Amino acid sequence: MAPADIEDDVVAAYADIGKAVADFALTLMKLYEDLDPQVQQYAGDVLMPLLRVSQVKGNKLIDRAMSLIDHPAVLEALSDGRIDEGKALMIIDQVSVLDAANQAIAEPVLIAHAATHNYTASQRCARRYVLKLDAEAALRRYEEKRKQRLVEKFNLDDGMCSLRIVLPAFDAALAFDRIDRIARALPKDDRTLDQKRSDVAADLLMGKETPAPQGEVCVNLTMPITNILGLTTDPVMLAGYGPLPAEIVADVAANGIWKRILTDPVTGMAEHITTYRPTPAQRELINARYPTCTMVGCNQPAHRCDVDHCCPFDGTNTTVANLRPKCRHHHRMKTHSSWSCENRPDGTHVWTTPSGRVIETELEPIAEPAPF
Ligand SMILES: [Zn+2]
Repeated sequence: MAPADIEDDVVAAYADIGKAVADFALTLMKLYEDLDPQVQQYAGDVLMPLLRVSQVKGNKLIDRAMSLIDHPAVLEALSDGRIDEGKALMIIDQVSVLDAANQAIAEPVLIAHAATHNYTASQRCARRYVLKLDAEAALRRYEEKRKQRLVEKFNLDDGMCSLRIVLPAFDAALAFDRIDRIARALPKDDRTLDQKRSDVAADLLMGKETPAPQGEVCVNLTMPITNILGLTTDPVMLAGYGPLPAEIVADVAANGIWKRILTDPVTGMAEHITTYRPTPAQRELINARYPTCTMVGCNQPAHRCDVDHCCPFDGTNTTVANLRPKCRHHHRMKTHSSWSCENRPDGTHVWTTPSGRVIETELEPIAEPAPF
């Protein structure tokens, strides 16, 4: 048989797996619908003796079948071999945040893309598409998923364990960058980079000194310049991860340990690289000048505050005149509500309340002015 024929056979056999999964889901749902309503909640248990599976596995099979039946377009694509089971479940998971009308718009687009791309590329496309279609929904989904953050210990064989931390992508990117930078800064020895990273992570978690300086961490975010100008809230690309809702990034990036790569809104090509993070010297001067959060009456010490760009960051205004400490709460209040503020050249800070009242805060000298 010529190699091309064998390749066709492989493609066809792979498509048959998808068809079998789709048929299995349909058959399973027939069984489910035939059960008495009070037995339906034990459908997973019904499968235990039938298929010799655990209860967890039985429930998982039922859940998967239900999701496929609830998304006929995805089920059909799986059945006729356009997408495999992994992609089908990924698409269902990604669109689950959308309402029915938007699901009907998204599904054919995502199926068509997935049919010609691998899983990772399809997932990236799906995330981006869902974000564009309904950013609010994506944000709600993020909040929902964020509640599931955890630390888990898995026992491995031979005296080893695996530690798994589930946390927001942005935090994970920063944490990994820190581990990686320290590991790479270690002197050359007989350890691999993976081994060094593991040793460094363990040292950090156990509060030990790391053998190399911790340095500065940084992650790259790519966004259209129109986001900075407040004209768009397009998804932001986190390097090594993919798209994130712009709002999440505005929130988590408040402390500014990141580099923005701005893109031309028309071409999408990278245009500028700017750093948002104040220098340590700037931060020190700002904290010395403004010992607390600059909201009227807030006493949160500056070293525990974010450094807020009073005029939104435009690529050039990471300056002492434009930066003020704000606690996370008041930083969010300013960013997400109709409160606004202004830095005056004399160092005073002026807040405007949602009702339009203007409140000035005095700059408190931290030492008595010299009498001359
Ligand atoms: Zn405050």
